[in-house]
Amino acid sequence: MPEKTRCVHCGYGGRPEWRPAWLALLALLVWLLPLGLLSQGFWPFFLLPSIAITAWAITSVRRVCPGCGRPWQPGD
Ligand SMILES: [Zn+2]
Repeated sequence: MPEKTRCVHCGYGGRPEWRPAWLALLALLVWLLPLGLLSQGFWPFFLLPSIAITAWAITSVRRVCPGCGRPWQPGD
């Protein structure tokens, strides 16, 4: 059974985009530093900013339709 991925506004059929995409990417990349430090046995001093940036990304990044730019609401 195929997943329902179609925009209710314009009928775009496909995957939604993450916007802003750079913030979603940043939220992933900032974890490389503290996790890298932790794996080497150092204190992950960048841990708190990483949590803050991830929390910021969770509240700011939205899925939007690439076709019409409106917030993604998959319908059928
Ligand atoms: Zn759309």
